[in-house]
Amino acid sequence: MFKLRDISIRNKLILMQVFTSVVVFGIVFGVFIITDVNSYKQRKVDSMISLAQVIGTNSISSIQFQDPEAAKKMLADLHNVAPEIIHAGITNKNGQAFASYSKIKADSFKIPVLKGKAFSFAGEQQLFVSNPIVSNNEIIGDVFLQVQLTELQKIKHDKYGLAFVLLLVALVFSFLIALMVQSYISKRLLKLVHAIKKVGKTGEYNKTLEEDGKDEIATLIQAFNKLMEEIKESQKKKDEFIGIASHELKTPLTSIKGYVEMLNVLEQEQPKKKFVEKTLNNVNKLERLVKDLLDVSKIQSGQLKLDIKEFNIDELLDETIIAAQMVSGTHHIERKDHPDNKMIFGDKQRIEQVLLNLLSNAIKYSPGENKVVVDSEKTEKELIIKIRDYGIGVPKEEQINIFERFYRTKGVSVHISGFGLGLYICRDIINRHYGKIWVESADKGSIFYFSLPLKHSFTTQQTQA
Ligand code: ADP
Repeated sequence: MFKLRDISIRNKLILMQVFTSVVVFGIVFGVFIITDVNSYKQRKVDSMISLAQVIGTNSISSIQFQDPEAAKKMLADLHNVAPEIIHAGITNKNGQAFASYSKIKADSFKIPVLKGKAFSFAGEQQLFVSNPIVSNNEIIGDVFLQVQLTELQKIKHDKYGLAFVLLLVALVFSFLIALMVQSYISKRLLKLVHAIKKVGKTGEYNKTLEEDGKDEIATLIQAFNKLMEEIKESQKKKDEFIGIASHELKTPLTSIKGYVEMLNVLEQEQPKKKFVEKTLNNVNKLERLVKDLLDVSKIQSGQLKLDIKEFNIDELLDETIIAAQMVSGTHHIERKDHPDNKMIFGDKQRIEQVLLNLLSNAIKYSPGENKVVVDSEKTEKELIIKIRDYGIGVPKEEQINIFERFYRTKGVSVHISGFGLGLYICRDIINRHYGKIWVESADKGSIFYFSLPLKHSFTTQQTQA
């Protein structure tokens, strides 16, 4: 069903403006036409009354001398004087017909009984006028005229035609003006909507919009900018807090880890050994989180430094797969490609961090499955590494968001633990290597890709940067 709220504001405003213009012009033209028609009718009535008076004066002697032929002759002359008169008649003081005239081809005519009553009536087609004939202050008869208003039809036809054309012109103009005004209004609104959508998608809260004017839209832009400022401020405070907290946690945590590792070696008695192992497990988790937080803080303050050296990516892939395989009792990590000692420039440790994060995610987000596949593809300029799992997958609409800080797909936080930091750090590391990271997830599971420039194109990119 047609709903007004489904039409865009822009179209609503255009419709409103065009509709208002049509109504206003319609009323104005209507009033003009009615006034014109009425004044024409009044002029016609006045001129026919004057004619009836002249006819009355000229027919006094005919009535007094009972000479209807003379009166008839005079009425017949009306054919030349006023051809629009279709019937004319003279009655005596008793209301009886004295003389009459009918235009050729006019329908039959009977003079109404008037008896000294003056009246006039103008209809849409015809006009009726009667006027008493007075002689020596005595009414001796009446003159009656029936007039065809042919000219009125023509006038009306012309006016309606003109009004229609003017209305069309007004419609076109008001549409064009509405289009211009509305495009200015909607352009600014759409700009704002676009900015809000972009912020929602990318989480870049440092965007503000240029304010122009003092109208409601400018107020809306001001409110948006203020909101962005406030979010930016609170983000800054959050980043500062993360930075300080992770720094403060790092030292005691390293010392706790050292002591627990020592205990783990020394303690052999059960169940104490089991408790120590559990503690160590949790300390390791905590250490990973603190490391991630520290990395995020470094990325935010631009302090994440890379130690770029040439290294063998095939060896790194093998080493990392072995390391990830050691901690996974559920999944088998399969390498599909054939290692051929590809050399790249980069920070080996950071690339290893990316690989470990992607592999542990592939295992973590595919519960109940038992396989993860690692593959790579070499193009002329770059190496693309693919990590495929057969797990829960990433919904299409969230694929762009998962690389943002603290973002976790809907519903995932209930069953699988995590902080939404790993992919954010991975993206930053890969970007700094002039590479790209992305995800594809269609049927079952997902494939995470990242590309790294090969040795020769890395140096070119570095020079360009
Ligand atoms: P974490 O795993 O700690 O939540 P990440 O930054 O590594 O943080 O991942 C962000 C989010 O992306 C995860 O919370 C999850 O929703 C989604 N995700 C990452 N890897 C996968 C994957 N292999 N399969 C499905 N979803 C994934």
